[in-house]
Amino acid sequence: MAIHDCDSQPGLRPYLDARHEMLSRLEAITDSTPVSLEQALNRILADDILSPLDVPSFANSAMDGYALRAADVTDEAALTLIGTSLAGHPFNGSIGPGECVRIMTGAALPLGADAVVMQENCRSEHNIIYPRGPVTEGRHVRLPAEDLAQGERVFAAGTRINARVLSVLSSLGLEQIYVQRQLTVALLSTGDELKSPGELLAPGDIYDSNRIGVGAMLERLGIRVIDYGIIQDDPALIRQAFIKAATEADALITSGGVSVGDADYTKQVLEEVGRIGFWKLAIKPGKPFAFGHINNCPFFGLPGNPVSAAVTFHLLVRPALATLAGETLKPTPLLQAKALMPFKKSPGRMDFQRGTVSTQADGSLGVVAAGAQSSAVFSAMAEANCLLHLEQDRGNVSEGDMVTLELIDGLYW
Ligand code: AMP
Ligand code: MG
Repeated sequence: MAIHDCDSQPGLRPYLDARHEMLSRLEAITDSTPVSLEQALNRILADDILSPLDVPSFANSAMDGYALRAADVTDEAALTLIGTSLAGHPFNGSIGPGECVRIMTGAALPLGADAVVMQENCRSEHNIIYPRGPVTEGRHVRLPAEDLAQGERVFAAGTRINARVLSVLSSLGLEQIYVQRQLTVALLSTGDELKSPGELLAPGDIYDSNRIGVGAMLERLGIRVIDYGIIQDDPALIRQAFIKAATEADALITSGGVSVGDADYTKQVLEEVGRIGFWKLAIKPGKPFAFGHINNCPFFGLPGNPVSAAVTFHLLVRPALATLAGETLKPTPLLQAKALMPFKKSPGRMDFQRGTVSTQADGSLGVVAAGAQSSAVFSAMAEANCLLHLEQDRGNVSEGDMVTLELIDGLYW
């Protein structure tokens, strides 16, 4: 008989199932827009990028030294220096037997030359160069199209343009590229207890952190946010906001109100004005996460607890938004690390505990909990650099056991 902890239930939907089902119900937007490279950072390529030219487009030197004919470099070689090739200022003539040209990194290889000897391996006296060999043909020469050939596919549609991609796009001389239209997401928090920063807290109130936190993650993903603010726990107000958001945005993200408390109206209103795809997953934190649609607008109901909201955003909403935006999802690299302390875990739900992973003296990875694991303790979340992926059926983790984790530092959250 399976053992379940007091707040897990049999019949909850496993994480990967739910994620798969959700992604299969989402369709990428198809509108694209031209942008200059200056505006392209963090956008998603709408088309494949084919190289308009060979990169490099001409043979050039990988070193500062002398361009020559490899066959000339014998023990007694004494070559006549006949000119210079600088980056941007090629040597115009060609090299004959017994001749060489001073050449700098990136400068075009002169006609007749087939190799470069680095200057550290040459002695120079009165325009006579004494290279130390042997030298093979092609030594220190970057060949045309060595990096990219004209017509070659450089990036596939669906690639997110980061600084490295941008740098390669620039090397192709492209002025304008087509990217997917920017997604617009409506974001709101529900809860009578929530106040915005700057407001006074009445007894029982707390500051809304999910809207700011999730908003920041959306912004880092290049998504335009329509801020619907804080909506009171009132079904009529929630209904009104949902209906408006579904007409204005490509997706709606809410936080709070998806549990089974007396003031949890989010799921109820979703059922009234739209349809639920699923609710309640076999995950911790984030069990009450809800997914659905209002007309054609995808709906993501994050739990109110800030840790649950952030973790479910990462595990479910981020891949969903990527799919909507037309971004090709890359598998998350998972690492194995040794637990340097015990982790409490009950079978029944996949547990994404927050951890701090570091490299040990022997070069292996070790992980400790990043503070308290309660989903109400957000400060530990900010400290963590990884999320443990503790398998659904797994029980307690003993010190020394191996665990699976993913790095979260330096990502968008
Ligand atoms: P709920 O999902 O609405 O039942 O909320 C669960 C817990 O998260 C409660 O302790 C709420 O006060 C808290 N909470 C809900 N929304 C937010 C929010 N936007 N920021 C911070 N805490 C929240
Ligand atoms: Mg609430």
